[in-house]
Amino acid sequence: MVKSKTLSEIKCIDEMDIAGKVVFIRVDFNTPMVDGKISDDTRIRAALPTIEYAINAGAKVVLGSHFGRPKGKYDKKYSLEPVANRLSELSSCEVLLVEEPTSEAPKALLKTLRPKQILLLENLRFDPSETANGSMIPDAIKEYADIYINDAFGASHRAHSSIVAMAHEFPQRGIGFLMKKEVEMLDKVLLAPDHPFVAIIGGAKVSDKIEVIEALAKQVDVFIIGGAMAYTFLKAMGKEVGTSLVEKDKLTFAKNFLERMSTREKTVLLPVDHVVAESFNAKDSKTTEDENIPEGYMALDIGPKSVAQFGVAIREAKCVFWNGPMGVFENPLFAKGTFGIAKHVADNNEALTIVGGGDSVSAVTQAGVSDKLSHVSTGGGASLEYLEGKPLPGLLALRGKKIHQASEGQD
Ligand code: AMP
Repeated sequence: MVKSKTLSEIKCIDEMDIAGKVVFIRVDFNTPMVDGKISDDTRIRAALPTIEYAINAGAKVVLGSHFGRPKGKYDKKYSLEPVANRLSELSSCEVLLVEEPTSEAPKALLKTLRPKQILLLENLRFDPSETANGSMIPDAIKEYADIYINDAFGASHRAHSSIVAMAHEFPQRGIGFLMKKEVEMLDKVLLAPDHPFVAIIGGAKVSDKIEVIEALAKQVDVFIIGGAMAYTFLKAMGKEVGTSLVEKDKLTFAKNFLERMSTREKTVLLPVDHVVAESFNAKDSKTTEDENIPEGYMALDIGPKSVAQFGVAIREAKCVFWNGPMGVFENPLFAKGTFGIAKHVADNNEALTIVGGGDSVSAVTQAGVSDKLSHVSTGGGASLEYLEGKPLPGLLALRGKKIHQASEGQD
């Protein structure tokens, strides 16, 4: 694995003396929920190695996380109670949920904490100072915790209190195993991928992914472009795209990019057939014979020929990075392309296969192939920002860089 420069000045939890200490671990338990029930526990499972390590090394563990956007006050809808229950089931520990993280309660509970019991602080965003990168939460936690560990990669692109202000307050600070793996995997893709390196980029908008496309272009051998953004590229090539989504102001970028890639002898694969419908909410669809989209129709998924053609490149790859679905996979009528690509990626056992967060993660989970991939990132926004070369505030703070301003976004 490449030695990450980003992590060079940062200790991992297994390089620290944590026995007998109280360790606060910032985890990312911002898990998808439907009607108050966890619909995908990937993020909880991903945090287990660090939690179990700390417990087995004789530390007392206090966990903290945000969940959703509760607007700085208690809201049962955003309680971490379901997470506490699931964590108790998944781990070897009893999880005690602390309703008021900045009260005296955690201190009192720690005094009588038995082995194999851990504390989970209630949603840190119930306190308005969390998203303001304020000092309330760190001030309270530093009264009882000795060590700060950030294992919340998916939240580390946000300068919020438990990510940034907290790291400043703890001279003994470091990262957990999940954070380490996330950064090392993305570094591998950015700096030293094995070739052929295939990057699959999909999703809604070219504009959201331009910087990632540019960052990956240095190393990539084959770009596969699917999802709505493919239609801006096809339009730029002079193809008829019907009423498919096109970003008019990105047509010049798309044209220049395709020319640049061709000059550098890199391959760009675009869909050669499509699943089309008359509208986004249509009840039926049809598959085109070729790349032409009939007038009045919009392409909402890639077709079977595209899946097969993309599959050839994916199967020959030694490294695959994937971000963004190939179609409107939330609707079963337009999901086959995304699931077909998921299967091709999962079937390549020879390659390092990395799925970079967000919708592509739920696509590989729904396709039932996540276990067959080398790495499924827990951070959508964070993994894109990292690849774009933007320094993550959470990692900067661990390296001792002072950041006072809070981030505006809350994803
Ligand atoms: P992103 O967050 O940029 O990865 O975009 C994900 C979204 O893109 C999903 O909600 C998809 O439904 C949407 N999407 C993918 N392909 C298409 C398409 N051909 N037309 C419209 N939306 C699409």
